Amino acid sequence: MKVLITGANRGLGLSLVETGLKRGHVIFAGVRSVADRDITQLQELKKVFEGQLRILHIDVTNEKSVIEAAKAVKFTDQYVDIIINNAAILNERDKTIEELDIAETLKALDTNTVGPIRVIKHFLPLIRNGATTDSTSSQSIINISSEAGSLTNAYAGDYPYGLSKVALNMLTEKLKKYLMEEDIQILSIHPGWMSTDMGGKKAPKKPMDTALNIWNLLENPIHNSSEAFAFFDDELNRMEI
Ligand code: NDP
Repeated sequence: MKVLITGANRGLGLSLVETGLKRGHVIFAGVRSVADRDITQLQELKKVFEGQLRILHIDVTNEKSVIEAAKAVKFTDQYVDIIINNAAILNERDKTIEELDIAETLKALDTNTVGPIRVIKHFLPLIRNGATTDSTSSQSIINISSEAGSLTNAYAGDYPYGLSKVALNMLTEKLKKYLMEEDIQILSIHPGWMSTDMGGKKAPKKPMDTALNIWNLLENPIHNSSEAFAFFDDELNRMEI
């Protein structure tokens, strides 16, 4: 399969890249910065998995970078089978509503919600190309969400992040309706609490384990279930829909 992953230089994104390469997929790794110091691990992977990995400049807050990346992929590979919207920020963590910085709040929404919109807007034609050309795989759009975006589990704090993820879940639902006639799997996934820069060292899950679960799901698509929200249960290590 040909798979686009945003925020691919560290954390869950990097684990998704590595696992996908090991399983023989072609990966388009979208990164905010292409400076050598920011993509060292991807460059190492590129040496090992020659021909399978393309590194693309995608700052999800910059529509032009997304347009250019989509053009580049269309030119070299014609289509993608899967989009994984993984890039996100978690800012203003311990702020109360009175303390919130509005510019930072907008930044979280711009990155975590509008970012996936920019990516889907410009890569959906390439997903459709996959459905109509020689790809033998099924097509999926995966939005990496969070339990912080669950209305039933709302908690005080993490205002920008929680709002951005609940809106991302709505985007998933809307896309499901919009693309109902097309055989494209669309899911929001809560990856669990993982030990990454965002999750911190105390987190119980390794991003590599979540990446394996996500790849298992991508290789065995469920297609649009009534609730398009996948939840990887931390204890049982299984996915609930
Ligand atoms: P990290 O903070 O470790 O990594 C975030 C990634 O997003 C980095 O690659 C970063 O790139 C990238 N990124 C940030 N802003 C942009 C941008 N404007 N354009 C492109 N890329 C950008 O996060 P995780 O790996 O932990 O998180 C991955 C996903 O999982 C996120 O969607 C997160 O919300 C979700 N999640 C994580 C949990 C956890 O416990 N870790 C829990 C629940 C959900 P750069 O290096 O350039 O900053």
